[in-house]
Amino acid sequence: MHWADAFIQKIEGPQVISTGISPSGPIHVGNMREILTGDIVFRAARSKGLPVKFIFLSDDIDPLRKVYPFLDESFREHVGKPLYEIPSPKGEGTYADHFMAPFRDSLEKLHIQVEILRSSQLYESGKFYEVIKTAIAEKDRIARILREVSGRELEENWFPYSPKCSSCGKINQATATSFTDPYVSYNCKCGHSGKSDIRKGEGKLPWRVEWPAKWHLLGVTIESFGKDHGSAGGAYDSGKRIVEEVFGTPAPSYLIYERILLKGEGAMHSSTGIVIESSEALRFMPPESLRFLIARNSPLRHIEFDPKDFYLNFMDDYEKYFNAYFKKDTVSDPDLDAVVRYSSLEKPVGPIEPSYRHLVTLVQIYPDEKKLLHGLSLGGYAAKNIAGEMGDRIALVKYWLDNYAPESIKFSLLPRGTEVKLETAEQDILKEFLSQAESLNWTAQSIHDSVRSISLKDGGEPMTAFRAFYRVLIGKDRGPRLGFFLSEMDKKWVIDRLGECLS
Ligand SMILES: [Zn+2]
Repeated sequence: MHWADAFIQKIEGPQVISTGISPSGPIHVGNMREILTGDIVFRAARSKGLPVKFIFLSDDIDPLRKVYPFLDESFREHVGKPLYEIPSPKGEGTYADHFMAPFRDSLEKLHIQVEILRSSQLYESGKFYEVIKTAIAEKDRIARILREVSGRELEENWFPYSPKCSSCGKINQATATSFTDPYVSYNCKCGHSGKSDIRKGEGKLPWRVEWPAKWHLLGVTIESFGKDHGSAGGAYDSGKRIVEEVFGTPAPSYLIYERILLKGEGAMHSSTGIVIESSEALRFMPPESLRFLIARNSPLRHIEFDPKDFYLNFMDDYEKYFNAYFKKDTVSDPDLDAVVRYSSLEKPVGPIEPSYRHLVTLVQIYPDEKKLLHGLSLGGYAAKNIAGEMGDRIALVKYWLDNYAPESIKFSLLPRGTEVKLETAEQDILKEFLSQAESLNWTAQSIHDSVRSISLKDGGEPMTAFRAFYRVLIGKDRGPRLGFFLSEMDKKWVIDRLGECLS
């Protein structure tokens, strides 16, 4: 059974699925596991017929922790201020908006229908008022839970509310001194003393208290989160006790997900800059394939994502699933149907033809779009026009070629007239091929078979034969699968080009 169906099988009644991210930096493919895991469980709950709501909380009241590598020094003065009160690193708007905007676009492209809430608004509108009061009243009990669960001592003057200093604007510098409803008095490290109104977003709960407060406030019943929060003594353990013992509501069920690693670089983390932003990934990945990355793998499996050398293998795999769903291929995975449904934007669309790998070859043979249409028709694909869905797929492929493709994949056809030096054995192979070419059925399979049998005839290696073609056509020793490659090109053009190199 698919992991999302297996999870939801044990769940009954109305559900609120929650996810959240602090928009402190680029929202990347690693973060997408959080939201997509939630989305897939949301769909599973819906298909089971459970009344279900899906929310995403942007933790935009969180302070900026440091000057990240992607920020310039002018941000030093903003460290400690809430993200929604810091100017955008670029252009109009706030810091939080800057990183949320491309993420919202990604949600749309991925067809993730989630209600986006902002923590700053929950605080400013007074929604947190009652829970903050409860937290302050139960300060000692919360402190004891945190100590017991985490095994760590809290600061001596620990208080379950961090006031925002009205002078320096920072939300992690002031120490609370007393509470007289609705004001928390504080002394700030900047020298300012003042009062923070807990109804108006003039401060926040510490993260370990805010999380269970949010569950309580929003009625969260299911949440997915990374394993750092789920470890023993971690934030989920303390949150569970706080929400049950202090706020009096049950803790949500949960799914823990493993990280997504960027091949050769390690875990994606916006603070280190080792990331591919979700919006960037969607410039070369069809949205269904990004959904597939998450839908296919159990959350407990870590994913190594490789946008470069092995990316085409990933795309082959993704297309194989969709094509198998439409009976054009086979995949031995009992969850095939569920994986494809959860990877689809709405209903599954397929089969996927031509393949991404194939388009990678085609767009390099035909950099000109009109000729590309011709090339598509040679391959038997009815590419109605480049403007529509095919155009979107071509744009993804071109972006990948320009930005991520390894050199071994890239080529351009040598112009007619380019001289190429060939060994005698190579010349013989090409001559033999030319003698058969006219009568040859110009399909990938028959071209491949013909070249292979020519090369084997004198005890030669197929690689030598293939190399001869690549040298003449693209000036390299390796290239795309030869049968497909030649069949995508105009037969006469290929024959003329081979002929001119032999003369
Ligand atoms: Zn201050």
